[in-house]
Amino acid sequence: MAKCLRCKKEASIFIDSLRFCDDCFKIYFENSFLRAINGEGLHKKMLTKDEKVLVAVSGGKDSMVLWYLLKKYEFNITPLHINLGYGEFSEESLKVINDFSKKTSSKLLLFDLKIDFDIDMKEIFSRNKNREFCSICGSIKRYLMNKIAYDYNFDAIATGHNLDDGVAVVFKALLNWDIDSLSRNYPILEKTHEKLVKKVKPLYRLQDKEIKIYADLMNIPHTDLICPYKKGKVTLSKTKEVIEFIDKNYKGIKRTFYFGFLRNKNLFDFEKPDLKECKICGMPTTNENLCNFCKLKGRKEIEV
Ligand code: SF4
Ligand code: ZN
Repeated sequence: MAKCLRCKKEASIFIDSLRFCDDCFKIYFENSFLRAINGEGLHKKMLTKDEKVLVAVSGGKDSMVLWYLLKKYEFNITPLHINLGYGEFSEESLKVINDFSKKTSSKLLLFDLKIDFDIDMKEIFSRNKNREFCSICGSIKRYLMNKIAYDYNFDAIATGHNLDDGVAVVFKALLNWDIDSLSRNYPILEKTHEKLVKKVKPLYRLQDKEIKIYADLMNIPHTDLICPYKKGKVTLSKTKEVIEFIDKNYKGIKRTFYFGFLRNKNLFDFEKPDLKECKICGMPTTNENLCNFCKLKGRKEIEV
């Protein structure tokens, strides 16, 4: 009988070289979350209970677990969901989020891309055929999350990015020597401009498979539907497949790789380019005239 590493009862969960019973796995999981929040290895606390935190929720397991944990540990949170209008995928996400919000009596901030921001993603995708869907969609979501957080006076935005996401972004950036991406991949992104809200990733120490196990053990509702625009595209999931292959042969390499990157982060900390203000929306951008969001929306300077 394989024994739990913490309590020596029979182990039921096996992850890499770790073995736990259900109860000890929950303790291990929540401790990893709390270690991230307390800033272990980051030289800085991620969040305090005085801060007003906007939690970006998509309905997937990562953001739903993040919502659950931040609420459980009594952080001052407001969940935010932006309905992307991606058919059944978005409908299912919205249902999961609304149900969980009722169950946990959480006050939710809900927006609809089409109704509230006059954005039709299909139209934007067809106008930008040379760009990956996820890159466009991610750029729009990041802009809106920051804008909403800024407009509603939040101190921080928390997202459900996990260890696998961090490893994949760094690995891909290293393959391409994309120093800019390397300098931005950190679990805490401090406010560098009055209109840029701090961003944090409290699940950065936890793997995808660990989050799945925790969500199932705790009965945290989530959708497993795959976004219709993810299929068949060259996304980070290809990089993740390569990393999974390496990880099978070098157990624990994901943590070694990513935590090593964080320890050596200063190697990639170059001076950031000056931020200007977008000539249309006034939000910070490294571009000369219009920010990426306004460009994607097809706005022209003449509209000012
Ligand atoms: Fe957007 Fe890509 Fe996520 Fe779909 S998978 S919601 S296109 S970022
Ligand atoms: Zn703009």
